[in-house]
Amino acid sequence: RQAKQRNAFAVAYEHGMDEQHLRRLQIVQALPSAVREQRLQLHYQPKVNCNDGRILGVEALLRWRDEHLGVVRPDEFIPLAEQTGEINRLTRWVCTAAFDQLQLWHEQGLQLALAINLSALDLQWPDLVKFLREAAQKRGLSPQSITLEVTESAVMVEPEQAIKRLTQLREAGFKIAIDDYGTGYASLAQLKRLPVDELKLDRSFIQDIANSHADLTIVRSTLALAHELQLTTVAEGIEEESAWQILQQLGCDTVQGYYFSRPLAATQFEQWLRDYQGVSP
Ligand code: C2E
Ligand code: MG
Ligand code: MG
Ligand code: MG
Repeated sequence: RQAKQRNAFAVAYEHGMDEQHLRRLQIVQALPSAVREQRLQLHYQPKVNCNDGRILGVEALLRWRDEHLGVVRPDEFIPLAEQTGEINRLTRWVCTAAFDQLQLWHEQGLQLALAINLSALDLQWPDLVKFLREAAQKRGLSPQSITLEVTESAVMVEPEQAIKRLTQLREAGFKIAIDDYGTGYASLAQLKRLPVDELKLDRSFIQDIANSHADLTIVRSTLALAHELQLTTVAEGIEEESAWQILQQLGCDTVQGYYFSRPLAATQFEQWLRDYQGVSP
């Protein structure tokens, strides 16, 4: 396999590929075996209740460190996995690993909720609902404790299909969140039609909120809209005490961000949770 890989890279160079293009090719080639051999990892980032500072649950986020490629970020390999169709296997692995972890936590008495990220293509997979329902059931997990995050743009790829699938998932008891809200092009009319429980405001609106009146205004009105539509609100990317204060004042329900914790491996997260005293609201 090694020799074959080197060949492909040599060919790539001969054709004058730039470094970035080459790296993408290497990722595409290395990903399937990394998934198969379980060399990817999940990290978990806490979701914090704005009212009392308690930890409601975690979002599972993929991590991949390849011995040749080094750290490959999900923003780099997820789009490629979508292009090659590898995403389906990847999503199934993520669900299996994250559900196993959630089962363990529940057995240990940690009543955490779990959020996982789905891709546009996952919504087109006919067996998605069946797979998730069975995966949860097998581990004694209530679908109510599992949130499926999809981006606005993922929904807009095939809106009718996505709405149908999200409706089925919701009927099966799973919660649905719209991720990175505000960066896509969903109109309010479209948002109203989506079977959604939670709106996650993109971190680009949050990071500078203490200094940007525009961001503050956008976030305030988005929170009002979301609450009007009976949606739970989550702010991503809280890095500073000031942002945490503002989001609490604005009545946001839940926050995530480095200010509380970076995504951590399961055992590190457990340690973090033990040490966490709760940030007084
Ligand atoms: P996302 O779902 O919006 O996840 C939030 C991203 O923001 C994560 O990046 C997280 O590490 C990062 N983040 C959290 N708090 C902060 C903060 O305070 N400041 C900053 N600067 N960043 C923060 P990550 O882990 O690199 O993931 C990037 C994206 O890759 C995710 O965005 C998601 O769209 C995708 N992704 C990650 N894991 C999976 C997965 O298992 N399946 C799928 N389909 N997509 C995934
Ligand atoms: Mg997410
Ligand atoms: Mg997001
Ligand atoms: Mg994102």
